[in-house]
Parts: sequence; structure tokens; C-alpha cells
Amino acid sequence: MVVIGEHRHTQVQIDLQAIKHNISEEMTRKDPLTELWAVVKANGYGHGIIQVAQAAKQAGATGFCVAILDEALALRQAGLTEPILVLGIVEPEYAALIAEKAISVAVGSQAWLTQAATVLAANQVNAPLHVHLALDTGMGRIGFQTPADLAAAVQTLRQPQSPFDFEGIFTHFSTADQADDTYFIQQLTNWKTLIAAVDELPRYVHVSNSATSLWHQACNGNMIRFGVALYGLNPSGTALSAPYRLQPALSLTAELSFVKHLAAGKSISYGATYTAKQAEWIGTVPIGYADGYERRLQGFHVLVDGRVCEIVGRVCMDQMMVRLPHEVPVGTPVTLVGTDGDQTISLQDIADYCGTIHYEIACGLATRLPRVYTDAE
Ligand SMILES: *Cc1c(COP(=O)(O)O)cnc(C)c1O
Repeated sequence: MVVIGEHRHTQVQIDLQAIKHNISEEMTRKDPLTELWAVVKANGYGHGIIQVAQAAKQAGATGFCVAILDEALALRQAGLTEPILVLGIVEPEYAALIAEKAISVAVGSQAWLTQAATVLAANQVNAPLHVHLALDTGMGRIGFQTPADLAAAVQTLRQPQSPFDFEGIFTHFSTADQADDTYFIQQLTNWKTLIAAVDELPRYVHVSNSATSLWHQACNGNMIRFGVALYGLNPSGTALSAPYRLQPALSLTAELSFVKHLAAGKSISYGATYTAKQAEWIGTVPIGYADGYERRLQGFHVLVDGRVCEIVGRVCMDQMMVRLPHEVPVGTPVTLVGTDGDQTISLQDIADYCGTIHYEIACGLATRLPRVYTDAE
């Protein structure tokens, strides 16, 4: 099978040691009785779901969180036997598959339990379906909103002969990455009110994404859903500083595929939006918006020979041009994310330029970019 992208020298490099470093830091910081589950949804935030999960496990993660059922199935297929929680709502028609694969799912309504119970009965599944009840304390996405609805669901889960295992209960904070904690405190209050409706709490009680664990550790519960920070990215962007050094795991490199001397007055790329004011050296980089390197990055920069080089003209689908300080050979390395000499470009820098968050840039890197792994151990 052809692996599309393997014969182009444009690659994402993932430093698994950095991932282990970030997890180890969090492992030593959190309460020892609190488990760390690694969030590896969206292909491990673009870093590679299986490789990240394995590295996270080596560093002490005892479970995984994903967004959709297929991500959980991919982890099972790769031989991972730890608990896996699907954070989004899975269609109840897959209840039998979920139970057979010992996957845990977020549930936010009584209707879901009713439909899943029907599916489980029709398929004569023996294994219990592991449920984490989602509580909507202010995120407004999924989950139970009232103590009465929650209590009814708990009663269903705990009925004699229930096909369910009531394994967890959780919520998600929407402002844990902000300095102003007014809304966070409201959500925390709602959480306490809701869980008071559950007389006996299940095995896992969890509220913390990376930001909550980093900045509101006291309310962690007994499991944290550690996501973006394990990749070495600060969940707040630049608003709050992390209690330890987060080590970014991802870099993105290419090689110049074409180098030319451009006469003054000549233009570059679609729309001819850039015209050379003087004679200059221009390099072509084999990457474009089809790789997740956004078109909006015109005017941003890359590193060549440790020097900052502006992206000139529009970013095309598969190629883009940069202005070089001097003539360099074809094949010269280009750093798009990472360090070259004393210069660094972070995913945060790219996100800032694009007016978004690093999460979106990381998980937007296309599969056409091969992921190459290093592990210093
Ligand atoms: C994505 C997600 C997380 C992880 O969030 P980070 O900000 O990456 O740490 C945790 N919990 C839920 C419910 C999520 O959807």
C-alpha cells in the first residue's frame, strides 16, 4: 500500500520523551490516589493516537479518553487493555459493540439508557456496558442538568439485572484556563449540588481536563482527563503559566524543493499579492493548506539556516514560497514548527497568527504529513 506522503521530505516529528516528561511531571504533582487518563482523541491531537497512548501508558497513564467510538476501537485493536472512555455521545445502536469491547461511554440522558438497554437485550450481550454519567454544570454541551433527572438515571443503572455498570460520573469546565474564576466557581457549585443527588458515588469521579488539573487541582476527584498538556501545550495559551515546564512534543519540518533568484518587480503566487521590491532569493517549500498549514499564514515565517524567513505570496494547496536571506541549496531544511539555532516557532505562534488556539492547528495537521517518532530512552 502506498503511504501518501512518505516520499516527500515534509514531516511531523514527535518526541515521545517529551510526552513522557509532561505526564511524569503531572504524575508527581497530582494526588497519588488520583488516576491519570491520557486524552488521545483526534489522532492524539494530531500526534498519532497509538504511539501517544503507548508512551502515555509507559509514563503512568492508567486509562484513555477519546472522542468517538472508532478511536476507542483503534486502541483496543492495538492491544491496549486499559479502560477507555468515549467522551462524546455514541449512538445507542452500538451498545453491544461497546459492551463487548469493554469500552466506557459518556451518557447524558435517560433516553440513551433506554435505547441501549433494548439493543443489549436484543443482542444477548453478557458483558456489562460501562457508563460514566455526564453532568452539564455549565459547559452546555452534553449531560444531565437537574438532580431529579440524574437520580432517575442512577436508579436505572442500579436496577437489579441492569445491563449497565455505573462506573463513573463527571463534568467538564468551560473556563478552567482563565484567570477569572467566577464562572468556574459557579460550575463547581452546580457540580456539588448535582452529585449530592447520588447516594453512593461510582468508582470514577472526575472533573479535570488539563487546565482544571493545572490550576484548580483541589477539585480533581479520583481521575484526571489529561489532554493538551501531555503534548506540551499550555491549555490557556499564554494567559496562565503552568506549574512546571511543558515540553512541546511536535515539530514540523520540510526541505526546500526549489530555489530561485527573483528580479525586482516580479510577483509570487496566486493573485500576485506579493511583488519583489528588489532582487531577492525565493525558496519553495513543499507544504500547503492541504497539509493543514493554513492559507492565512501568508506573511508569517519559517526558519531556514537558523534565520527567520517570511512566507511571501499566498500559501497554495501543496506549496508555498519564502524569502531567503541569501542563496541556499535545494534540499536545505526548513523548520515550520520547532527550533533551528536560537530561533523557535511554536504551535502557539502559528495559532496566534491565525487567530485561533494551538489545539486547532495541531489536530488540523493532515494525514498526508508522515509522523516520525523519536524516543530518547
Ligand atoms: C477534550 C476533553 C478533555 C481534554 O481537554 P484538554 O484541554 O486537552 O486537557 C477532557 N475532558 C473532556 C470532556 C474533553 O472533551
